[in-house]
Amino acid sequence: MDFELSEAHKMLAESVYDFMLREIGPIAEQIDREDRLPDWVWKKLGDLGWMGVTVPEEYGGSGMDYLAQCVCLEQMSRICPALSLSCHAHSNLCCDNLYRNGDEEQRQQYLPPLCRGEKLGALALTEPDAGSDAVGIQMRAKRHGKYYLLSGIKTFITNGTVAGAMIVYAKTEPEKGAKGITAFIVEPGYQGTFAARHLDKMGERGSPTGELIFDEYRVPEENILGGLNQGVSVMMSGLDMERVAGTGWTLGMAERALELSLKYAKERVQFGQPIGQFQLIQEKLVDMYVGIESARLLMYKAATMAERAHRGGKGSEINKLAAAALLLAGQVSTQAVLHAVQIHGGYSYMMDYPVNRLLRDVKLGEIGAGTSEIRKIIIARELLRE
Ligand SMILES: Cc1cc2nc3c(=O)[nH]c(=O)nc-3n(C[C@H](O)[C@H](O)[C@H](O)COP(=O)(O)OP(=O)(O)OC[C@H]3O[C@@H](n4cnc5c(N)ncnc54)[C@H](O)[C@@H]3O)c2cc1C
Repeated sequence: MDFELSEAHKMLAESVYDFMLREIGPIAEQIDREDRLPDWVWKKLGDLGWMGVTVPEEYGGSGMDYLAQCVCLEQMSRICPALSLSCHAHSNLCCDNLYRNGDEEQRQQYLPPLCRGEKLGALALTEPDAGSDAVGIQMRAKRHGKYYLLSGIKTFITNGTVAGAMIVYAKTEPEKGAKGITAFIVEPGYQGTFAARHLDKMGERGSPTGELIFDEYRVPEENILGGLNQGVSVMMSGLDMERVAGTGWTLGMAERALELSLKYAKERVQFGQPIGQFQLIQEKLVDMYVGIESARLLMYKAATMAERAHRGGKGSEINKLAAAALLLAGQVSTQAVLHAVQIHGGYSYMMDYPVNRLLRDVKLGEIGAGTSEIRKIIIARELLRE
């Protein structure tokens, strides 16, 4: 057992953080205010090899492991959680899924431009009436010659308004319920109607979130991902990895909250001494530190186990471990940011203080990739099954 990151992971963490600090740090507030990431960022991240961290090199990726993906998202999130979220949707939800379930032609066609950052990826599962109950989706895909006509609405889709390639789940045989769902690779520009509406969010601003309307949108049959009516297994193949990678994104926000709080606790003087000298403030700092360290260790373990499961090892433990890692990280991060807000007192309420942005950003860590409640349900189910 080794609690240290490898040299390669450490180097990755340092270079991602260094880039984020230099290039994104100065515009992070602007990104939040304008709810827009700069257009140049995707190509730049592609050049740096961070748009397809886990995709094998033969398809244009960096060929690293899931721990590397966690580390990358964690470091991005310390400076700009919105960029980290969009990268998560791109690399994990879209690229990893495409690699895992795609045939050779699909991999060759889609992965290289996605890894270069020429196209942004997304995954569209959630619908207005189907969130946690993912297999309750209503979107239809009707066969029409060599095409499928997609009709329905997807909502809350990260990168959905700007994506060049998207994995979309639809019912091909609704009467079969969960067994009648198929995943499709969808691009803009096909025949039929596709409209994307930008949704205005309280946090994670800059990461584009969209409502997508499809009406008889014509998708070629060769764009079926992972087989007809195999949508649930495509979905399940990625859920653990999604949760593990999401842990890095969530945890980066807690780390930033602790960094800001330590600085402020040393600088802010009340009653003639820095507030960091008061034990009630110290307790909050300690609470943040203990939570972050615990969640990070669980992330390391879950990422390592996810890698093993991905390579064909024992798969069952990863379900509850991945859910546990994200559950803990989500709770710890929300609490850490609440502590940071309290430590910053009234200043935290001012828009130009970064803890304000963190407070709006962090809550998503308990909602996306399965809510905290759903994570608990998964863990309980696995525990009772054993
Ligand atoms: C910013 C943002 C980005 C997102 N990005 C994507 C994306 O890229 N792609 C995508 O497909 N989706 C995306 N989502 C959707 C996200 O995955 C869903 O919001 C999430 O799964 C919860 O679904 P819901 O919002 O419909 O909540 P609901 O499922 O309606 O849940 C409402 C409440 O009920 C609780 N609940 C539900 N079922 C149970 C149960 N069985 N037992 C106990 N409690 C329960 C939930 O925990 C929650 O507290 C995104 C969401 C947001 C906000």
